[in-house]
Amino acid sequence: MSSSPTETVPTGLRCSLERGEALAVPRVCPHATVPQPGPERVTAPMGTSWPREGGDVPRAMGTGAVRVTAALSRLQIPGTCLLPEVTQQDQGRICVVIDLDETLVHSSFKPISNADFIVPVEIEGTTHQVYVLKRPFVDEFLRRMGELFECVLFTASLAKYADPVTDLLDQRGVFRARLFRESCVFHQGCYVKDLSLLGRDLHKTLILDNSPASYIFHPGNAVPVQSWFDDMADTELLNLIPIFEELSEAEDVYASLGQLRAP
Ligand SMILES: [Mg+2]
Repeated sequence: MSSSPTETVPTGLRCSLERGEALAVPRVCPHATVPQPGPERVTAPMGTSWPREGGDVPRAMGTGAVRVTAALSRLQIPGTCLLPEVTQQDQGRICVVIDLDETLVHSSFKPISNADFIVPVEIEGTTHQVYVLKRPFVDEFLRRMGELFECVLFTASLAKYADPVTDLLDQRGVFRARLFRESCVFHQGCYVKDLSLLGRDLHKTLILDNSPASYIFHPGNAVPVQSWFDDMADTELLNLIPIFEELSEAEDVYASLGQLRAP
């Protein structure tokens, strides 16, 4: 569709949604086990008029998830990680970082009759309705992923939009944590999800994302997925379930993904 709040919004709203301050402080997570190339981390052009989530600290929710906000990002000091400690339930599990837009859902400002959710989002003092379509088989996919992995939502979208969408999408509490734009690294015009900042063993970390730019620092950890907009015959998520079932047993995701990619 033509007016996603995250990637394909016409000019004015797109500026509000996509521009913002990225990480300004390089951080090195002591739990990362693979040295990273040290991407340039800069402050993105300011000027966003989208209000920030402010004053939050990570808080336990009914689902056991933790919201990581701008305030937390700024409070973090070198040597800390984006994710909290692994819970007892997830000990030994591979961590899967899962994208939101065009991977699990597609959202639009344009009214549609078959929206699964309609989420009010305030932009510059005006409340806009965001119409959200769930990708086919997303419920089945998330349920199975929650059984197999430590699942983390990681989106380059703003929490103001993505958090309420995830509340509606993930009613079982599959996501142990949620990371938003503030947790991305702004690199060459793109919001990159730097897995080395998570605080997890990179040999036990996967990322599922429709945008290769999101995992440009860690292509060896990526499970690509086609971008989804509104094709209700799409079966990508259903088809990914057996692949992730196999990956859940991996001792080293680099080796396992390498084997899966081999012709
Ligand atoms: Mg996406």
